[in-house]
Amino acid sequence: MKRRDDRGVVASYIPELARVDPGAFGMAVIDADGNLFEGGDSDTAFSIQSISKVFTLTLALGMVGDMLWRRVGREPSGTPFNSIVQLESERGIPRNPFINAGAIAVTDVILSGHKPREALGEILRFMRFLTDDPTIVIDEAVAASEQRTGFRNRALANYMKSFGVLDNPVDYTLGVYFHHCAIAMSCRQLAAAGRFLAHLGRSPVTGHAVVRPERARRINALMLTCGHYDGSGEFAYRVGLPGKSGVGGGILAIAPGKASIAVWSPGLDVSGNSHLGRIALETLTRRMGWSIFGA
Ligand code: GLN
Repeated sequence: MKRRDDRGVVASYIPELARVDPGAFGMAVIDADGNLFEGGDSDTAFSIQSISKVFTLTLALGMVGDMLWRRVGREPSGTPFNSIVQLESERGIPRNPFINAGAIAVTDVILSGHKPREALGEILRFMRFLTDDPTIVIDEAVAASEQRTGFRNRALANYMKSFGVLDNPVDYTLGVYFHHCAIAMSCRQLAAAGRFLAHLGRSPVTGHAVVRPERARRINALMLTCGHYDGSGEFAYRVGLPGKSGVGGGILAIAPGKASIAVWSPGLDVSGNSHLGRIALETLTRRMGWSIFGA
């Protein structure tokens, strides 16, 4: 993979992300028995960005259950991750929890009844719990970079606020959102964090049930249909696994019952999904026969 020339383009709308080495590539796979297979820069921490939305969704469902679906839908958007167009006709209710608008609404749910610092602490604690790794931190430079430049997200949040979809002050909700997107993790840590989704909600890392099997199944369904924005169909077609991408170039993919997989390569395709990351997953699932659609 290191040798491939066509790597896509590193995200630059968050200035701090533009500094990342476009030549980086890492991958980690943890199978059902806990065996770790890794390669390349699998131990280098990167900005998980929208992959954090899988974990905030899990937390928000744990807090309010199905009430969450009053504020956010469960349909693929077919539009870019930061699009605003559907919000007007759909009265401020975002299509799904993985586009930016939807994830901001989910963050607002987690924030309710807490101070921003507490909500963020809760999210970070969850990541450390899932990985059994207390070293995971937020990259403050990335968070500050997005705070300064996140005008589009500010527009989305204000727009939703005007429809009454957000309960908290927009600045508080966005502050928590920008910070959880700025959590830095390696492929190895991310693959560990995703294991509960591969194993019916139970994390072999902690030995605890994180969510019930039914909820794990549903989060996986949302990852398959919405996890790559307007590239979700293509990802399902080529890779055939539930997956969630982030503009930091990471992808978390789940092979139910078999493995949790994290890949990182910072160059993105036109939909903002890791270009090489997707190709690597496509190759892996084909070789292993891991597509959920068989063969
Ligand atoms: N923090 C990023 C943003 O809101 C996350 C986007 C992404 O990873 N697709 O723009």
